[in-house]
Amino acid sequence: AGPLLEICDLNLDFGTPRGRVHALRNVSLDVPAGQVVGIVGESGSGKSTLAYTVMGLLPENADVTAGSILFEGKDLLKMPAQVRRNLLGDRLSMIFQDPMTALNPVRTIESQMIDIQHHDQGSRSEKRARALAMLHRVGIPDPESRVGAYPHHFSGGMRQRVCIAMALLVKPVLLVADEPTTALDATLEVQIIHLLKELQKEIGCSVLFVSHHLGAVAELCDRVAVMYAGEVVEQGAVRDIFHNPAHPYTRALLECDPGRIKKSTRTLPTIPGEVPSLLGSKKGCIFRTRCPQAFNRCLQENPVEYHIGLDQVARCHLLDEERLVSA
Ligand code: ATP
Ligand code: SF4
Ligand code: MG
Repeated sequence: AGPLLEICDLNLDFGTPRGRVHALRNVSLDVPAGQVVGIVGESGSGKSTLAYTVMGLLPENADVTAGSILFEGKDLLKMPAQVRRNLLGDRLSMIFQDPMTALNPVRTIESQMIDIQHHDQGSRSEKRARALAMLHRVGIPDPESRVGAYPHHFSGGMRQRVCIAMALLVKPVLLVADEPTTALDATLEVQIIHLLKELQKEIGCSVLFVSHHLGAVAELCDRVAVMYAGEVVEQGAVRDIFHNPAHPYTRALLECDPGRIKKSTRTLPTIPGEVPSLLGSKKGCIFRTRCPQAFNRCLQENPVEYHIGLDQVARCHLLDEERLVSA
């Protein structure tokens, strides 16, 4: 069987008064069944856009200009809107950076957790029992006495736990999490990451995990894709990428000792130079304005994906040049 989710050559523009913003360029990425795939990259690199494209939750001005997203073998981009909507909160669910995006402020947690379950998941009291068990599972103390409360009665960390409980209550096969811990402090973040990892193993779902925290990715993910200015510049197994990064951008991100990444609580380091405008032409390597190793070819040609070893790919002309030298 192929991967659960197969994103192929995805291109997406946002229409803006200043012109078309090329927010995703030739993005190809697989999420194998039962695996956790991280997406890292600095602010504005297109992580959320990619996550929302998979979920079918894009704003009006978004325009997918090319590509496909196969989910269980069927192209999400070609599905009738209703069929696609029915996948949400069923086979596919999402956790957001701000838990209030998913929670209704004027309804109790209990009623929201009951309603999110399918009509064939049993009676109301069965659904209530399942909701309580799940709240208990995600570490909400004494759920029986708290389930009747409204979202604002919970702290930020507790609200995110409620959202995780809601997202997993429907037993999704793919969970998309867009920076679920960014709003939390470091201690809470560690707890939530551990919780996600345990639950992912129990349920056996795949996860697409967007983060700009490398430590969280090292902890949680099997694979990682590094995004820069709308492109996936490198991807592969976490182990390979963190120990043997091939792309100059990934190398810059990992400047510190890879052994320390897991323990670090820091977010991405700042890299000098200017991020290119996403408005202009697509000529040349996307990283050329900041790359310490850029050469002539980088200004003319956008590099293709080169394979390194069995399972790692990176978009950089240097990998081709090495090949030419050794040939
Ligand atoms: P962050 O880490 O800050 O969440 P991100 O990697 O999630 O960043 P996106 O939100 O996906 O980045 O944005 C990618 C690019 O698309 C950015 O240049 C952003 O300005 C642009 N963009 C996002 N949404 C829209 C929109 N609705 N209209 C126009 N441009 C948009
Ligand atoms: Fe740097 Fe050139 Fe490689 Fe782009 S293709 S990352 S500019 S060396
Ligand atoms: Mg984002």
